Formats: sequence, structure tokens, C-alpha cells
Amino acid sequence: MSNLYDEMLGFAKENIAPFTKEIDDEAKFPVDSFKAIKDKKLTGLLVPKEFGGMGLGFYEHTQTILAFANYCATTALCYMMHNVATNCLATHGSDELKKEILPKIANGEIMLALAYSESGTGTHFYIPEIQVTKESNSLKMDGRKSFVTSAAYADYYLIDANSFDNDGLDNWIVSKDLAGITFEHSAWNGLGMRGNASCPMILKDVNIDEKYRIGASGSGLEQIMNTVGPFFIMGLAAVYSGVALNASNTIIEYSMNRKYSDESALCNIPTVQNHIADIYTKATSAKFFTLSAAKSVVEADPAALANVIAARLNASQLAVDVCTKAMKIGGGTAYAKRLTIERLLRDSLAAQVMAPSTDVLTTWLGKALTNQEII
Ligand SMILES: Cc1cc2nc3c(=O)[nH]c(=O)nc-3n(C[C@H](O)[C@H](O)[C@H](O)COP(=O)(O)OP(=O)(O)OC[C@H]3O[C@@H](n4cnc5c(N)ncnc54)[C@H](O)[C@@H]3O)c2cc1C
Repeated sequence: MSNLYDEMLGFAKENIAPFTKEIDDEAKFPVDSFKAIKDKKLTGLLVPKEFGGMGLGFYEHTQTILAFANYCATTALCYMMHNVATNCLATHGSDELKKEILPKIANGEIMLALAYSESGTGTHFYIPEIQVTKESNSLKMDGRKSFVTSAAYADYYLIDANSFDNDGLDNWIVSKDLAGITFEHSAWNGLGMRGNASCPMILKDVNIDEKYRIGASGSGLEQIMNTVGPFFIMGLAAVYSGVALNASNTIIEYSMNRKYSDESALCNIPTVQNHIADIYTKATSAKFFTLSAAKSVVEADPAALANVIAARLNASQLAVDVCTKAMKIGGGTAYAKRLTIERLLRDSLAAQVMAPSTDVLTTWLGKALTNQEII
């Protein structure tokens, strides 16, 4: 593992962890964490060097999110969405578009979000109903996106929409400043991931310029399957591996510090030792499977796609298992919310519903393993 993971752990401990509690308590978007992320120019992690960015790739994306999620799942998720959108632009955008937007991302001026999901197609975010239409010389985007993490805090959105000149899909990069964009409600009141400010986004008669379409007409689905999807699915594996590691570290420390009247500690109980061993094993396996799946992508392993999906399924399940068992070890103290485990359990439950949901992904993995088309 390169030093980047350790470096990012240090960064997150200092600049993200101090805000995690208030982010959850107040369902507050991680503005302070993002200020630090922008100041350190980590928004430019995936921006090529020629546009002023760090020029890093898939593995470093995974490492950084994993490190952030060790301290705050919400910050890691918002950052992940930003990276996914940035990478799509950097990979498929025209030179003109890249020159306009990437340097601002690289120097920490702006951040991006992913506006894909719609109520009409739910977890299948690669089947949008939102439409771009052409009237005389102008293009208009109309529709509603159902969940947009970072919503009003982002500056640009990666939006998938039905093409105006093609049967397929297009990805667009859309500025928040365009007239006709509103958010349905500003307060996200999720069970977990409480600071991610995710809410519906309305686009009504939004005038868009064709230059903001990413790539050739109708190439959106291919971009989703080959670029957006792998970075996104891997990113979720990293977020929820980080949640599992956080719960493991927290409960191990608690079990050593929880003392009884006879001076014995919680961790002296053999059953607790067994539970802790199981928790550590699961959290660590989520981390290493996630990192090695990311490596297999970089190394163009033929099994890379299957590995990425499996790592996401693995991390999603193990995060819930680890947090549930940690709640048991934490006893009434954990249940009374005097430990952070209950927050981590709430956060972990988002993994199974985030698109493509774990049920959908399980089917995809079965298809991929038997050489069938995924969608
Ligand atoms: C914390 C959080 C942050 C999010 N952030 C974003 C974001 O930034 N951008 C974005 O675009 N979206 C985002 N989403 C939306 C998310 O990715 C999903 O699209 C959304 O949760 C789907 O919700 P739904 O109620 O429409 O699910 P539904 O589609 O109604 O699904 C309900 C259940 O049915 C199951 N199901 C549906 N179809 C199938 C099938 N074919 N096979 C098996 N099971 C199936 C699903 O697995 C799920 O368990 C976010 C969601 C959460 C929870």
C-alpha cells in the first residue's frame, strides 16, 4: 500500500474527524471538511496534471475515500461523488470543456456532484427519464432527479439524460447557476449519512449549451458502464470498508477502556475477545479486498469488473455485520448513543440501497461471472 493511504488518514484525522459529530447531530453538510479538502487541492485528485491537478487514478481514488471514511462516511461519500463526476469529465469531455472546468476543480474553487437517480426508475440510474429537447436553436433540460448528494453545495452536476439527437443517453455537466434549477427541500433527514444534504433537484426549462455535453452524442450509457460505474461502485466499497474499520477500531478501544469494579476490562471476557476477533477480521478483509479489487482494475485483470462488484457487495454486508456486532459489545452504552457505533450502524445501512443496490449488483455479478450482458 502506498503512503497516500496513510497520508490521507493523517489528513482526515486532523481535518475531517473534528466535524463528524456535528455533521451527524445537525445533519450539516461537511463544509469545514470540504474547506480543508479544497485548501489541500484534493478536489483535483483525478484532474490530469496538464490542467493543474494531481493526475492520480483509480487506486488513489479508492485509497483516499477509504481513508476519509475511517473518520466520516458522509464526507467520504460527498467526496466520492465529486471524484466520479470529475473523472467522467476528464476522461470524456472536450478540450474546451476540460479547459473551462478542470483547472477550477484542481485549485479547489469548485466541487461537483452526481445527479443521476430518478423516482421513475429508482435504483436503475442508467435509465433516466429526464429529457433534453431542441427548440429552434436552444436546448432545454427538464425533469427531476430524486437524490443528489451535496445538492446545493456543489457547483456543477453530472447529469444523465435522454439525448435530443439520438436514441441513447448523454452525460452533461450542468452549472448550478443556470436559471430553472431548484432543490425540492434543503433538509435531508436520512437515517444515516446525515450530512450529505441529498435532496431532489428540479430542472425546469433549463437552457443548456451543447458544449456542456460530455463526449459524442449518445455515448452516455457507455460512459456510465465503463467510467462512472467502476469509479462509483469502487468508491462505495471504499466508503463502507472505512465504516467497518472505524467501528472495529472504536469497539476495540472501548473494550479495553471499559472497566468493572473488580478492575477487569470488557476485553478480558472470552466471548468478547471472540467477537472482537471476528469484527477485526471482517473489517480488515473489507479493506484489503477493496484495495486489491482496485489494484486489479489498474492492472487490467480480466476479472477486474467482477472484483469491483464483489468488493462493493462484501464491504456493504461486512459494514452492517461489524457495526451490529460492535453494538452488542458496546452494550447499553452503545445503545444509549454514548459511543459512535450507532452512527456507524446507521451510516452502514445506506450501502444496501445506494444504486445500483446490492440486490441489483448481485444479479450483475452473477451475469458477469457467466459471461452474460449486465444490462
Ligand atoms: C445516502 C444516499 C445518497 C445518495 N446520493 C445520490 C447521489 O448523489 N446521486 C444520485 O443520483 N443518487 C443518489 N442516491 C440514490 C440512490 O443511488 C438510489 O438511486 C436510491 O436510493 C433508490 O431509491 P428508490 O427508493 O427509488 O429505490 P427503488 O428503485 O424503489 O428500490 C427499492 C428496493 O427494490 C430493489 N430493487 C429495485 N429493482 C430491483 C431489481 N431489478 N432487482 C432486485 N431488486 C430491485 C432495490 O434493490 C431496493 O432495495 C442516494 C441514496 C442514498 C440513500
